[in-house]
Amino acid sequence: MISVQQARQFIHRYAHPLPPMLKSLPLASGLVLAREVKSPSDYPLYDVSAMDGYALKSSDVRKASLSGPIYLKLRGTQHAGDTLGMKIKPGECRKVMTGGVIPAGADAVLEREVVVEKDGMAVITQAMAKGRHIRYRGEGIKKGAAALKAGSILHSRAIGFLASLGVSKVWVRSVPQVALIITGNELVTPGKKLKPGQIYNSNQWMLETALRESGIQPHLVSNAPDRPALLKNKIKNALSDCDVLLLVGGVSVGDSDFSKPILEALGVRRVFWRVSQKPGFPLYFGSKDKTLVFGLPGNPASAWVNFYEYVMPCLRALRGLPIGPRTMKATLTTDGPHRGFKTLFLKARFRKNGGLFQADLLKGQGSHLLQSLAEGNCLAVVPSGKGRIKKGEKIEIHPLPTGKSS
Ligand code: AMP
Ligand code: MG
Repeated sequence: MISVQQARQFIHRYAHPLPPMLKSLPLASGLVLAREVKSPSDYPLYDVSAMDGYALKSSDVRKASLSGPIYLKLRGTQHAGDTLGMKIKPGECRKVMTGGVIPAGADAVLEREVVVEKDGMAVITQAMAKGRHIRYRGEGIKKGAAALKAGSILHSRAIGFLASLGVSKVWVRSVPQVALIITGNELVTPGKKLKPGQIYNSNQWMLETALRESGIQPHLVSNAPDRPALLKNKIKNALSDCDVLLLVGGVSVGDSDFSKPILEALGVRRVFWRVSQKPGFPLYFGSKDKTLVFGLPGNPASAWVNFYEYVMPCLRALRGLPIGPRTMKATLTTDGPHRGFKTLFLKARFRKNGGLFQADLLKGQGSHLLQSLAEGNCLAVVPSGKGRIKKGEKIEIHPLPTGKSS
């Protein structure tokens, strides 16, 4: 048996970012940049107008006022997308639309709303500073400068930004291929009728959702009864083509717990089994070639806590992301159980109170109980030790995913 910290260290040691691959930008949504992107061009690429208005020489209108307007000769219109081309001479201006290239010689734009046109002239009634309403070439980013760092997630804003620079392909980390196998003779899909002794399979839908919350669509989801030959076949197939295998149930010491011996008969090397924690003590972790294998205990809260504390950080590491879990400190508003030999992950609910975080420990800490996990929003982490956990203590909490699309 090992400690929570040792278990984390082992997983970090095995979970290396997956190899980079070149991906077309629109298909890279949600992936993680494997290499820094340098800007292939200046942005903006030209000096352009920020407004619909008139491009002029600011020196021509230095003395313009309502009582002393200045008339500039209007030299046509520059739309967004028009070629560069013309040059403004003293006493002239050119109408320019937002995104239109500023004509050579002009150094400011006066917005359309404050200009009237009369007999081919623009009537200017105010002076303005050089540079007004001009977006200068390269003011956002210069060619060759770092645009996005390795490790950035390609969300919509990042994809928009890279597209604006003309980037069409990016080096990203592959997303791990994850197989999920749920074991247990007693399990029935919700919606179907239970026979005596059977229970609903909560782990499958819960862990599929947890994977999706971690940015991963499992490529194989399968159920298996506690029948060694059948189970072995399923595990063998899954092992051959996934980066991570999640095998749920059957990792403890019961007579129908076949997961470990089968994994090891198939060549999986055990890294650890059993972590000094509650819930989720019989956690198994091993590897075979490129595949990392987690054996999660089947009690639903144990399975979920182990997923959140170990599997999710592992998946993040494979994707090239900082591993987590995110930690915060909160003050307990309730007394808790006695500390003991094991680290406790307690279902809890935290909130902000005057700039500080407070956490209530919830009823229903049993590893078979999910309501407290469903209603909670964090795990309170209590290291091993002595004495009762007391109201008012400052404690580490791990905020849980909210499921909201953020
Ligand atoms: P196991 O880890 O297979 O020994 O299972 C431990 C406990 O969790 C048993 O009471 C199982 O019935 C229950 N269990 C196992 N798998 C699931 C599942 N997918 N959904 C709900 N309960 C489960
Ligand atoms: Mg079982």
